Parts: sequence; C-alpha cells; structure tokens
Amino acid sequence: MECARQVLRETFGYDDFRLAQAGVIAEVLAGRDALALMPTGGGKSLCYQIPALLRPGVAVVVSPLIALMEDQVAALRQLGLRAACLNSALDAGERAAVAEALRRGELDLLYLAPERLLGESMLALLGECPLALFAIDEAHCVSQWGHDFRPEYQQLRVLAERFPGVPRLALTATADARTRAEIIEQLALHDARQFISSFDRPNIRYTISEGDNARERLWRFIRDRHPEDAGIVYCLSRRRVEQVAAWLGDKGRVALPYHAGLPDAVRRAHQQRFQREEGVIVVATIAFGMGIDKPDVRFVAHLNLPRNIESYYQETGRAGRDGAPADAWLAYGLQDVITLRQMLESGEGSELYKRVARQKLDAMLGLCEMAGCRRQALLAYFDEPLAEPCGNCDNCLDPPPTWDATEAARMALSCVYRTGQRFGVHHVVNVLLGKRDERITRWGHDRLSTWGIGGDLDQNQWRALFRQLIALGYLQVDTEGHGGLRLAERARPLLRGEETLRLRQFRKPARARRPRATPAAESLGPDDEALFQALRRLRKELADAQGVPPYVIFNDRSLLDMVRLRPADRTAFLQVSGVGEHKAECYAGAFLAVIARHPGNG
Ligand code: ADP
Ligand code: ZN
Repeated sequence: MECARQVLRETFGYDDFRLAQAGVIAEVLAGRDALALMPTGGGKSLCYQIPALLRPGVAVVVSPLIALMEDQVAALRQLGLRAACLNSALDAGERAAVAEALRRGELDLLYLAPERLLGESMLALLGECPLALFAIDEAHCVSQWGHDFRPEYQQLRVLAERFPGVPRLALTATADARTRAEIIEQLALHDARQFISSFDRPNIRYTISEGDNARERLWRFIRDRHPEDAGIVYCLSRRRVEQVAAWLGDKGRVALPYHAGLPDAVRRAHQQRFQREEGVIVVATIAFGMGIDKPDVRFVAHLNLPRNIESYYQETGRAGRDGAPADAWLAYGLQDVITLRQMLESGEGSELYKRVARQKLDAMLGLCEMAGCRRQALLAYFDEPLAEPCGNCDNCLDPPPTWDATEAARMALSCVYRTGQRFGVHHVVNVLLGKRDERITRWGHDRLSTWGIGGDLDQNQWRALFRQLIALGYLQVDTEGHGGLRLAERARPLLRGEETLRLRQFRKPARARRPRATPAAESLGPDDEALFQALRRLRKELADAQGVPPYVIFNDRSLLDMVRLRPADRTAFLQVSGVGEHKAECYAGAFLAVIARHPGNG
C-alpha cells in the first residue's frame, strides 16, 4: 500500500485516498475480487488505475460507454500512462496497432466494450498476455431490473472461467440490495469483498423551489450563478426541451436540445459538444444521462418534477463529479404535480406498480415541500443517517419560515367539499377569494358558506397551500384529466379539529446576492477571480491545441487550488491537487507564468 500511496501522489497528484479507495486497491493488489459501490464522482476509476500500474500485465477495463473511452484514454495519457481503447470507432489499422502494443506488453490499461471483449479472437489474444486485472465498470448493467440492462454484461461471467487467477473488480454507483445481489450472482463474485461508500455528495448544493414562472427563475439562476458554466436542464417533454433550448439561446447561451425525437447524428453531435467545449448547456428529456461522464458539470436544473427520489438523485448526481461546488436546482409548480399524478393513474401497469409509483412520487413531493435539511431527508431515503443538518442546502442556508396552516387548510378542504369535489384548484381558489366569474355564478358557488372566506391569503398563497395539501396527501386529484379535487382519508382528522398543520411558508425565491463567474469560484475575491479566469483561458488554449476536453488538462478543483496556493516554482506547483510528475513536466511553465502575472493581495 505504500507503493499505492506513492503512485497516488506522484502520478495523480492527490494527497489522500477517498472513501473506500484504499480498501478496494489493497484487495485488488492482493489478487482478490472486489465489488465497489461509490457515488458518482466518488473516484471509482482510481480503484483500478492504481493497481493497473502496480500489478504486472495490462488492466482490462470493460465499459459500455464507447463514446467516453477516447476521453478517458486522453486523460490517462495526460498523466503519462500507457492507455488505449479498442472499439468500433477505430479503423482496422488503428485496431491492429493497439493489438500489437498489447502483444508487446506496452499497455498499462486497455478499455473495451463488452461485446468486443467477448469475441473469441479477443479472448484468445488476452490469453497470451499477462493480465493485471479486469475492471467491470457500470456493473449494474448486468441487472435485468435496472434501467441500463445490457445482455452482453451477463456473459462476462466467462472471465471467471477463462482467467481464474486474474482479480475482477466490479464498480457501480447504483446501490440497492437487489442490484448488488444480481451483480454478485451474474459475475460470479461470490467471494468478493464488498465496499459500500456513503452516498452523500457534499459538494452539491440542493435547492428546490415551488411556484410559477419556473423558466424565468431558471434564467436568473443561470445568469447569476453560472454565467459561463456547463450544465444540464431537464424538462418533461420534447416540445418543452426545444422551447427552453431556443429561449436560452436567445439569451446568449449555447444551449443544445437533446431528446429521443432527434436524429442520432444530431444527438451525438450535441453530446460531443457538451463533452468537449466549455460552458455548453444541454436541455434534455431524461433520455440524456447514461454516458455523460463530464466531471465539470456545474449545475443540473430541473424544470419538471422528477417522478421519484431515485431519479432525482441520479440526475442531480451528474453535477460536480470533480468535487468542486455544484448546484442541483429544481423548480416545480402545481401543474407538475397534477400532470404526474394523472400520467401515473392513467398509465399502463398493474395496481401494485401504480401504488408503488404513487408512494415514490409522494416521497419526492415530501422532499420538495419539507422545511428541514434536504440532504438529511435524501440520505435517509437511502437508509443512510446524517447526524447533523448539512449546511449546504437551501433550507439549511436560509431556513424557510413555517406557519400554522390549520385554519386555512380547513377552509380549503371544506371549500373542495362544498363545491362537490369535482373542481380544480383554480376554481376552488376563486371561490375562496370571493370572485364572481361566469362559472361561479352558473354553479351558484357565490352562495356557498365558503365563498369569499379566504381573503387573508392571496391567490399565490392559496395555490401554494393546495400544492402542499396535495403533496401531503390531504387532497386527491381526479384521474380523468380535469384536475378535479377530492378529499382524501387523511383530511378527516384535520377537518374534525383533531389535528393541526404547520407548513413551509410560501415565499418569493431569494435573489442571488451578487453575480459570480461560477460557484466553483464562489469564495474568491476580485484578484483571485481574475486569476481563475486567466487560468481557465490558458487551459482552454492548451486543450484546443491537443484536441482534448479542457478538464483533461486540469479540472476546476486544480485551478482553484492554484489560485489558493499561488505556487511560485515547480516544487510548489506539485502541491496543487491533481498535479503529478507528468503534468508538472508538461504544464508547470505555462501555468506558473500566468500565476506570476497575477500577484495576490496577501
Ligand atoms: P466516478 O467514476 O466514481 O464517478 P471518477 O473516478 O471519475 O469518479 O473521479 C471523479 C473525480 O475525482 C476525478 O476528477 C478524479 O481525478 C478525482 N479523484 C479521484 N480520487 C481522488 C482522490 N483520492 N483525491 C482527489 N481527487 C480524486
Ligand atoms: Zn441541509
């Protein structure tokens, strides 16, 4: 393990192992199988990259994400490692060259898609080479129940039979017990030690807000907090994706649509630009996700309500893989809740399936409407306790006021009851506010005892109250598509006066205090910020010259470290996180020169 630490420092430029990295690496170095479960951004790759360098032979990395292999290989070469990939994107000559390098033992790491690995000729070729290990990335793809099922993955068990002495390491960020059991079964990892890390992503700031005008608020969020950053904006429908992308484009951002209705070539091109260029926003349906391995996504925004906490966690998890500060921002409105409920009730599926889906949606809404720490609730949902509030979610940073909503909720519920339990929120609110529109007079609702009793709250406040009453299960929404409200069983004790209700107070979203270049640069003063921007520009030039994505040169974290440490010579430069021997060799000169031109104020 001393050697492993040395490689961590000298090659990768990091001081300490993270999470279970040390344990996993020790296991593989000892020649044993292992299963590593770590959240996205946890640092799974190092778990096989370090043993790849320390064990004799080549490490074979199985990954379904062909589109990313090239970038992964480029990143390893920046570190001075001998890495290559074999996939359908290469021509015959390039493939032959890689095979030759493999035969001659000139590779530390070889990336392969499972179908290529499993071909008889490849297995035979590997049979002739000394092998350091097999790393099976995205191992949850063996699971038939998961959303990423790949039949080829199940055939990977032949590795156990054909290469009995070679350690196999399965890695995934998908956690639940059932998937884990399937991985062990399908890949024959019965004796493997399991390493399960915390699923907390402390660098992600969770912010959830309710109310109308989500799109405007999205723009303010992007403009104030991420004027130059890459991010993903999720929307529910293709049409909305197109609209929002065009709208952000009009605002001056590069915003590319991504959904299943676009031709393959367009989708690929948009994904490629997102991956390669800086500051690109992708506006997408949930079709966009698998295969995104960009570490410097600084925000993930939802303009729709995710249908469950699992999706929310997975989608927001694409932000901030490099560990630098990132935002998970969600805005939803009453209509989202209604639409999702209706889709769920009128959709296919057994009664049991619907019941589960309904409960999951309720849990998601609970997370949205709660007044306490979001991270505690999120982790609790995955059975992971977090002792203290996190201090890095909207509710921790700016605790929402709560109010005694008992009286107002009773008014709302009785108004639903008196209007016959078939009208939608809009109408019921109008009755409460004492309006007299055509529908109200036609139905005689201006003669009800609840007409006009709600003057203490305004329209927005009533809408927020109804949203929370729906979220918390006091009201049900009809399934025929009209959005009519009915009282639920839960409403009874409240109406009978046996229960009180405290709710999160409706409030206008807070404005960001002052525009920042990026939340990664949040804590920087003006001098530091100027240096940070200059370092970014240098990184971009170097990346363009080599045709690689900028983060492959240095990630945001390393740049922030340079700003903080302001190294003056090569030795000091090596102290920067992510700077190893090889990168210092290549880049110390250029970066030190820029740093020297920006003396700090300290
Ligand atoms: P995963 O595959 O688990 O999503 P990666 O392996 O891509 O995560 O690592 C995420 C980021 O964290 C990368 O930029 C990586 O270089 C960095 N990283 C990994 N291990 C460490 C460590 N021990 N110290 C600092 N940074 C690390
Ligand atoms: Zn919190």
